[in-house]
Amino acid sequence: MNQDFLFASAEAVGNLPNLFVVADGMGGHAAGDFASRYGVSVLVETIKKDSNFNPVKIIRQGIEAANREVLEQARKDSSMAGMGTTMVVATIVGGYVYVANVGDSRLYLADSDNMTQITQDHSLVAEMIRLGELTPEEGAHHPDRNIITRAVGTAEEVRIDFFDYKLEQDDRIILCSDGLYNMVENEEIFRILRGSDPEDKAQILIRRANENGGRDNIGVIVIEPFS
Ligand code: CA
Repeated sequence: MNQDFLFASAEAVGNLPNLFVVADGMGGHAAGDFASRYGVSVLVETIKKDSNFNPVKIIRQGIEAANREVLEQARKDSSMAGMGTTMVVATIVGGYVYVANVGDSRLYLADSDNMTQITQDHSLVAEMIRLGELTPEEGAHHPDRNIITRAVGTAEEVRIDFFDYKLEQDDRIILCSDGLYNMVENEEIFRILRGSDPEDKAQILIRRANENGGRDNIGVIVIEPFS
């Protein structure tokens, strides 16, 4: 069972001028649902109280707090043992996007020519691809592609990847769970993201994922930083 939870604020959250989060929970019964929702709420509340001004430090402390709290809940309630959540977190500060990632939710950056996956998936299949044991094509349809190797709330320590990119005038950003990218090819995501369709781009992406089978929850945030 998987459950996505999103947070998107174009307004300030604590000392961050904006904040975007996609979390995809895992765990039996309602535990995955709880892990993503609770993890994001701890992250946001921690960020609100943080007096730092360094976005990486602020996000790190938020994710570490979410990790501790989700783990503690899993220990208190045996029905929630083993639950956890992915988390991809972004904030735009001074023309840069700062990104943090744990798990296999993704952030892509699209300019007018290309869409680049900024985050690296922490998944078994992604590691096998990096080691040359699978081709990306084999990985995209591998039966174990939902097995993740890092999560928030499953261990005392959480390892977080950080990325930062200078944004150009026309860049667009998408954060999404695997429910989108397993169902819609990258070229189509890129085409929709760059299109001039007046309909909400996230809605189009979700509709396309459902038309292609929609076998999972679909979490999508589209950011047009300069529009
Ligand atoms: Ca999922």
